[in-house]
Amino acid sequence: MIALVTGGNRGIGLEIGRQLAGLGHTVLLTARSMEAATAAADRLGPGVHALQLDVTSQADAERAAAEIAERFGQLDVLINNAAITYDTWQRAIDADLDIVREAAETNLYGPWRLTQALLPLLRKSRHPRVVNVSSEAASLASMGGGTPAYNTTKVALNALTRMLAGELRSEGILVNAICPGWVATDMGGPGGRPVEEGAAGIVWAATLPDGGPTGGFFRDGRPLPW
Ligand code: NDP
Repeated sequence: MIALVTGGNRGIGLEIGRQLAGLGHTVLLTARSMEAATAAADRLGPGVHALQLDVTSQADAERAAAEIAERFGQLDVLINNAAITYDTWQRAIDADLDIVREAAETNLYGPWRLTQALLPLLRKSRHPRVVNVSSEAASLASMGGGTPAYNTTKVALNALTRMLAGELRSEGILVNAICPGWVATDMGGPGGRPVEEGAAGIVWAATLPDGGPTGGFFRDGRPLPW
């Protein structure tokens, strides 16, 4: 199985790469810079390939698709993990909309453009899976105020997940949104759970059996309220 992870150079993305490689997957570990991708892939060892991919760049998405087509001919798993702007300093009532827009470029349009670019390669897989790394912060059921750029872009990512799942269901492409829980990373800060636990629920969604759930929102393999 060939799996691509965005934002794979650190945090949860790096650990997803480690766990998938441990399962015998060929991992395409991507990062904004080739240097960061190569350093991370070298840490994980054989079976892990570095690829430069800034998810805000249409040209990068198209180049990645062309490179994967040439080297591997197909893609089995796309994990949209990269994200920015856990904006605890903002409120919706006076948020800087440039910050919100910038967050959307990575957190929403990134997964969207990459899914579009890689869909022809996913369609060549016998067990295609798309995993959008979301957050319980996007659950409308529990939403109050705060972190407006992050929350609204992850809510939109959840909506995109539902639409893609609906449109791709008949082709057997499973698309799910996964919250890793509060995880101790640069974004999560200290105090969260270890990356191994956060990544495990994402790897679960990446390795679902045929006929498994699609269009769902999960943490640790259990449904979350939308
Ligand atoms: P980190 O901030 O530790 O890592 C983010 C990763 O995304 C980095 O590799 C970063 O690369 C990459 N990235 C950012 N922008 C881009 C871009 N334009 N193109 C490609 N890569 C990019 O975050 P986490 O590991 O904590 O988060 C991973 C996912 O989990 C995110 O989707 C996050 O929203 C989600 N999540 C995390 C939680 C937590 O508690 N940590 C809780 C809930 C959800 P670079 O090094 O170049 O900046």
